[in-house]
Amino acid sequence: MKSNKKNLDAIIIGSGMGGLVTASQLAAKGAQVLVLEKYIIPGGSGGSFKRKGYTFDVGASMIFGFGEKGYTNLLTRALKDVNEYCDTIPDPVQLEYHLPNNFSISVDREYDKFIEKLTERFPHEKEGIKKFYGTCEKVFNCLDSMPLLSIEDISYLLKVFFKAPLSCLGLARWLPVNAGDVARKFIKDQELLKFIDIECFCWSVMPAIKTPMINAGMVFTDRHVGGINYPKGGVGKIAEKLVSGIERLGSKIRYRANVTEILLEKKKAIGVMLSNGEKIYADIVVSNSTRWDTFGLNQNKKGLIKNDYVPKSEYKWSETYKPSPSFVSLHLGVSKEIIDDKLNCHHIIVDDWEELENEKGVIFISIPSLLDSSLAPDGKHIIHAFTPSSICQWDDLSRDEYLIKKQKYYSFLVRKISKIIPNLEENIDHKEIGTPRTHRKFLGRFEGSYGPIPNKKLLGLLPMPFNTTKIENLYCVGDSCFPGQGLNAVAFSGYACAHKIGAKLNINNFKLPD
Ligand SMILES: Cc1cc2nc3c(=O)[nH]c(=O)nc-3n(C[C@H](O)[C@H](O)[C@H](O)COP(=O)(O)OP(=O)(O)OC[C@H]3O[C@@H](n4cnc5c(N)ncnc54)[C@H](O)[C@@H]3O)c2cc1C
Repeated sequence: MKSNKKNLDAIIIGSGMGGLVTASQLAAKGAQVLVLEKYIIPGGSGGSFKRKGYTFDVGASMIFGFGEKGYTNLLTRALKDVNEYCDTIPDPVQLEYHLPNNFSISVDREYDKFIEKLTERFPHEKEGIKKFYGTCEKVFNCLDSMPLLSIEDISYLLKVFFKAPLSCLGLARWLPVNAGDVARKFIKDQELLKFIDIECFCWSVMPAIKTPMINAGMVFTDRHVGGINYPKGGVGKIAEKLVSGIERLGSKIRYRANVTEILLEKKKAIGVMLSNGEKIYADIVVSNSTRWDTFGLNQNKKGLIKNDYVPKSEYKWSETYKPSPSFVSLHLGVSKEIIDDKLNCHHIIVDDWEELENEKGVIFISIPSLLDSSLAPDGKHIIHAFTPSSICQWDDLSRDEYLIKKQKYYSFLVRKISKIIPNLEENIDHKEIGTPRTHRKFLGRFEGSYGPIPNKKLLGLLPMPFNTTKIENLYCVGDSCFPGQGLNAVAFSGYACAHKIGAKLNINNFKLPD
C-alpha cells in the first residue's frame, strides 16, 4: 500500500509557517517528509503574492522573532537550521497608533524613547508604565535565556530545567496569567488601560484581559531587543527559503495537493487522501490546517477526520476557544509621491474605544515598500489595509449584494487610510479586495478566521493544546496549538511538533541547541 511513497516518515498537510517549520526541522533531523499544500504558493497567511510588478504580503508583515540573538528568534533559527538566511531590513518603529482623544504615539525600536513618550502622555502613571513593561521584559528574559523547544516532552523539559532552572520557574509562574491582570495591578488610568488593550489586540485580536502574559512578554520586549525586521523581497521569502532548505535535504513539497481525508487504520493515522482520490501513506501525519478544519468542529462538516473518530477532547477545545473574526483586506498599488518617505510603515486607527472588538472597529495599515522599495514598480508604493469582519456578514448574499458590500468596505477603508495618506483615491494604480469568504477559500481557514480566541477569560496559555492529538500518529501544528497566532508563535509550534515527532522516531539531537 505504501508503494507510491517509499520510506516517507511524515506527511505535513499545509505549508503555513507552522507546517514548514515542522517539515524543515524534521528534514534537518534526517527524516523524509512530504508537504502537501492545496494552494499554489507556500506560507499560508505568511506568504506573498505577485500582481503587475507588485509583491503583496497575504497577511503578516510585522515580523517578530527575526533578530540575531537569544533563543526566541525562531524564524532566524529555523532558516539557519536548513542552511538558509533571509536578508532583513530593520524597522525603526514597530507601529504608530492613531487613537481616540487625539492620542497618537509610535512604538520606537528604542525602548526608552517609547517609554518616555508614553510617560509624557500619562505622567501620573510613570511608575505603573515602568512596572508593566518591566514585567513583560522579565517574562521575555525567561523565554530568551533557554532553548525551550518543547513543553510536551518531559525528558527534554528536565534537560532545559537543569540548564536554566530560574528561567523555567519564572516562566511557569506566568503561564496561567493574562496581560490585563498584570496591567491592572500596576495601572489605574482608564485610557492607558485601553492603550494596553490595543497593544494586545493588534496581534492577539483580544483585549489585554484575555491575552496570555507569555505572548505579551514576548511581543512587547522582542520589538525592542531583536526588533521588527522585514524580510527583503516580502514576507513570503521566509516560506520560500524554508521550502528551498526542505528540498535541498531531499524532502518534497507538492502544490495544488488538497487533502480531503486523513486515513485511519485501527484508530491510527496512516496517510492521507487527496481531492483527486490519490492516497499517500506515511508513518506520521501532521495537520497544519486549523483544528476546526482538521476535526470538523462547530458544525464544520467537512473535517479531515471522519466524524466517528473525532476525539472528545477536540469538541471540548472548541467549547473553550472560538474562531476570531476574519478580515476584509485591501491590497493597493499607489503613486509614490502621495506617501512621505518619513511615514512609518505600520499604523493602527481606532476611532472609538467602545468599538474595539466590533466589526470595522480597528483599521490596520502597512506600507512595507517604505522599507523595501523592490516590492513595487518604480514610482509606486504598496499599501495593505485590513479591518475585522465576520463571515456571517458575508455568507448568504446574492452575487450583486456581495459586490455592493465589497465596494462599501473598499470605500470605508480608503476613507480611513486617507486620514494618514491624503489624495489616495485618485492615485490608485492597482487594487485587490479580500473578504472573509476570500480568506476562507484561499487560506483554507474555517470562517476565514485569524485564529482561535478564548470563549471566556481563561488562565493564560494553560488550556491551549500542544501538538499531540488523541489519535495515534496524528499531530497538529499552527495557530490552533500552543502558543497561538503570529509567525513566531507558530514557528514555536513547528519546533515543538518536530521535537515530539523526532523523539518518537528517535532522531532528535541529544544536545540542547546552542
Ligand atoms: C491579515 C493578517 C495579518 C497578520 N499580521 C501578522 C503580523 O503582522 N505578524 C505576525 O506575526 N502574524 C500576523 N498574522 C498571523 C499569522 O500570519 C498567522 O498566525 C500564521 O501565519 C498562521 O500560520 P499557520 O502555520 O497556523 O498556518 P496558515 O497560515 O493558516 O497556513 C495553513 C496552510 O495550510 C494549507 N491547507 C489548509 N488545509 C489544507 C488541506 N486540507 N490540504 C492542503 N493544504 C491545506 C493552507 O492552504 C495554508 O497554506 C496575520 C494574519 C492575518 C490573516
